[in-house]
Amino acid sequence: MCRHAAWLGAPRPAATLIHEPEHGLHTQSYAPRRQRHGTVNADGFGMGWYDPARAEPVRYRRSIPIWADANLPALAQVARSGCLLAAVRCATTGMPVEESATAPFTDGLWLLSHNGRVAREAVRDLADDAESACDSAWLAAAVFQRLRTGLDLGQSVAEVVVKAGARDPGARLNLLACDGASLAATVWGDTLFHRPAEDGLLVASEPLDDLPGWQAVPERSLLLAGSSGGVCVQPL
Ligand code: GLN
Repeated sequence: MCRHAAWLGAPRPAATLIHEPEHGLHTQSYAPRRQRHGTVNADGFGMGWYDPARAEPVRYRRSIPIWADANLPALAQVARSGCLLAAVRCATTGMPVEESATAPFTDGLWLLSHNGRVAREAVRDLADDAESACDSAWLAAAVFQRLRTGLDLGQSVAEVVVKAGARDPGARLNLLACDGASLAATVWGDTLFHRPAEDGLLVASEPLDDLPGWQAVPERSLLLAGSSGGVCVQPL
């Protein structure tokens, strides 16, 4: 399982998900505390953020361990946005280790990450094509395809997770997606937490620190958050 995290609220640097918290994604890459599958997330990492200079998000991803990128700490301090998504990857056996298999995946305004695994046969016909043979890339392509037809973020991730989960009962399908103004996350086989802050909301596979307020999101549910600040959790 990989680990992912997102922020929605007042602009913050990506370092607030990665380097600044005691158990941010940098620490979670080698010492996750709640990870159920895999022990080290060293097969790549990525982050995505929204900048007024661009219509689409900026996405930075590498297929090396996050601690091996000496340029990242400075970049993460200036990658500032009201909507951030970042992830560290532990590749599932048999999946390629390459940049195109690494989250966040992106298309238009959307960014998406996946914690888990799914049989590729269960997702291959949910999308026309994907940028990598990695199961997560196929899930991302399936969600983006639905978003392009006009379904909203929550509907798109929910439909893909429920369909893939029905076809592969052993699948683990924690998705985290955002569009710059809202985010949607599923819990299907792995952990997910959220923590409201005064100026926004943190969502993460596991708590980024030991501050009070982290709440576990129940299994088989969909978390939705918008810029109005509210968070809604509904069953899948
Ligand atoms: N199956 C995906 C991959 O190989 C995600 C892996 C994970 O969550 N550890 O990248």
